[in-house]
Amino acid sequence: MTATDRPGPPLWLLAELTYRCPLHCAFCYNPVDFARTSADDELDTEAWLRVLNEARVLGSVQCGFSGGEPLVRDDLEVLVAEAHRLGYYTNLLTSGVGLTEDRAEALKRAGLDHIQLSFQDTTKELNDFLSHTRTFDLKQKVAHTIKANGWPMVMNCVIHRLNIDHIGQIIEMAVALGAEYLELANNQYYSWALLNRDQLLPSREQLERAERITNEYRAKLGDKLRIFFVVPDYYETRPKKCMNGWGNVFLTVTPDGTALPCHTAKMLPGLSFPNVRETSVGEIWYDSEGFNRYRGDGWMSDTCKTCPDKEKDLGGCRCQAFMLAGDAAAPDPVCDKSPAHQVVLDAVARAQRPGAVSTAPLVFRDPKASRQIAP
Ligand code: SF4
Ligand code: SF4
Repeated sequence: MTATDRPGPPLWLLAELTYRCPLHCAFCYNPVDFARTSADDELDTEAWLRVLNEARVLGSVQCGFSGGEPLVRDDLEVLVAEAHRLGYYTNLLTSGVGLTEDRAEALKRAGLDHIQLSFQDTTKELNDFLSHTRTFDLKQKVAHTIKANGWPMVMNCVIHRLNIDHIGQIIEMAVALGAEYLELANNQYYSWALLNRDQLLPSREQLERAERITNEYRAKLGDKLRIFFVVPDYYETRPKKCMNGWGNVFLTVTPDGTALPCHTAKMLPGLSFPNVRETSVGEIWYDSEGFNRYRGDGWMSDTCKTCPDKEKDLGGCRCQAFMLAGDAAAPDPVCDKSPAHQVVLDAVARAQRPGAVSTAPLVFRDPKASRQIAP
């Protein structure tokens, strides 16, 4: 690598503290084989403190604590306090389970800046069905605890075929709970969501209606609630600039210490990713094969290499290319120039059928299912 194409620092550090989670969401973004990583394999407190320090020295400025459910770790407060001391902007991504009033106060004292609380739906029935737990009432309580401690609240709701028609009620609930931001994140079809894609991909009509209602609320609510609506990329003709570029700003450290350019990259074959137990964050970021493989355009197929749009999306997502085209160096099949684009068109065509597209039961994320799918 020459000095001129050396990437900037990993501005965004995502610390995936654990894959343990009391919920079992059918759209969970954790890898399908997550059960291969047990609690005994997780990095200990000391190792995480070292990662936080090394990444900060390198130039990381924002640190997200996620999982699984990060509150399962009883050292979360210690890690947040160190991240705060080091000058990170800290963010907790949580289902709310485990955020008792005592822990909320401890996290506030530790300097936590921001909490993102996820809901599965605005009805108790669907929220609890999709997460396979009785958590709706608890989440409402947690939302009040977040506000009582003076944090800005981001409410997150993953949107898909089963809840997209409730979009108006979801926005109303965010207003009623006092959220400042609402992230209506249309499902992206990876991991558990890919297994359940036929049940979860909305129709075009559903999507257009949801966008229209969202825009009506935006006009009505103004600055009272900022609403982000993330469109599912299957309905686009150009892919997303995944992670803002491979190894460009994002660094994910998984529960066992594997360092990745995005949280699903471990699925890519023929690529080894270093572990923070053996390699410094600096060497990982600048020198490892895993982080350098898809930087620049040397790896691209001719379709992308000669494309006038390549700087806009950098060929899209490497994981999606592998999952849908069987080749991580292919153009992302969301792109209508991709030879594998038909796979996306077929999934979208199936989603236009009225009613339930698939009679197959949803596969819920739990350790037993994980071990069956990926023994
Ligand atoms: S998506 Fe659901 S199951 Fe997966 S980590 Fe988040 S809360 Fe847990
Ligand atoms: S051909 Fe490649 S670079 Fe061009 S728009 Fe499609 S994915 Fe992006």
